Amino acid sequence: MKVTEHIIRGEGKTQFSFEILPPLKGQHIQSIFDNIDPLMAFNPPFIDVTYHREEYVYKDLGDGLLKKQVVKKRPGTVGICAAIQNRYNVDAIPHILCGGFTKEDTENFLIDLDFLNIDNVMALRGDAVKTETYFTPEKEGHAYASDLVKQITALNKANYLDDQLLNCSATDFCVGVGAYPEKHMEAPSLDSDIHFLKKKIKNGAEYVVTQMFFDNQKYFQFVDKCRSEGITVPIIPGLKPISTLKQLNVIPHRFHVDLPEALIKSIIKCKTNVEVRQVGIEWCIQQSLELKKAGIPMLHYYSMGKSDNIKAIAEAVF
Ligand code: FAD
Repeated sequence: MKVTEHIIRGEGKTQFSFEILPPLKGQHIQSIFDNIDPLMAFNPPFIDVTYHREEYVYKDLGDGLLKKQVVKKRPGTVGICAAIQNRYNVDAIPHILCGGFTKEDTENFLIDLDFLNIDNVMALRGDAVKTETYFTPEKEGHAYASDLVKQITALNKANYLDDQLLNCSATDFCVGVGAYPEKHMEAPSLDSDIHFLKKKIKNGAEYVVTQMFFDNQKYFQFVDKCRSEGITVPIIPGLKPISTLKQLNVIPHRFHVDLPEALIKSIIKCKTNVEVRQVGIEWCIQQSLELKKAGIPMLHYYSMGKSDNIKAIAEAVF
């Protein structure tokens, strides 16, 4: 079922959803199930599965020659989504990126998803790879998520890349896209970022999931601004509980979001990461309860591959 239908079916009741990370190669599907199992009691209508590009380094072969060498791989998102749908009978939502994909790769990926009865996809650009400063699309790929959304909606109208292709049936994907209440790091202004968010929606995106935020006012102000710009699709808040002291520096640096002073102060007082984790849980519970009170129909939690803290939050909120 589509995310938009899940929201309508919820009839205003706040629902719980979360995303998981494919584990590093060498682990087994059971490691994913072990993280999902404790969260199924909270009836998530869908589970997102993030997509991670291979990580590589350039090895110097001498004589000015460089060899691209893959150093980090994860099992494929498509297989993980199929396993989740089979085991739990909930919708699995694969993330699909512009980065590392040609248009043909994208089409093949979508054909697999359609075959597996996957109804939703989250369309994202992806970040620059670690060896580059700026995002570089594949030669035959998309530079922005809005172009990726366009390709998916074209497939929904049975428009494949090659018009000579046989057996071209229309797909029926519901497309989600990302948005940033505190502005995407590369955007010159929030207005400009919202301008391009509108383009993703014009091209066919039916719902939005936000980047994590730690101050609900940022989310409420962002939603107000989007609504005043004519954006009417659901804007699902993305929430992440802080879990280690190191994240005090990593999160603002990597995700370009602010941490409220009160949260920083509480974390700095902690003597161990066990205490930090508890502070993170309590902060996220308060955020979630306020969003629930405001009637937000769906909350989305970034589990980052660990579910014990998300379970503690869900127990208090749902
Ligand atoms: P876009 O919408 O393409 O925007 C990128 C930047 O370009 C923005 O600054 C935007 O304002 C600007 N822009 C857009 N269109 C144009 C245009 N036509 N001309 C000029 N500027 C333009 N990353 C992963 O690798 N894997 C994941 O699974 C993943 N999941 C995510 C889930 C969510 C909910 C979110 C919010 C992010 C996720 N990301 C993931 C991170 C995401 O890939 C990065 O934040 C990336 O840098 C931007 O992706 P986007 O889809 O928002 O890009």
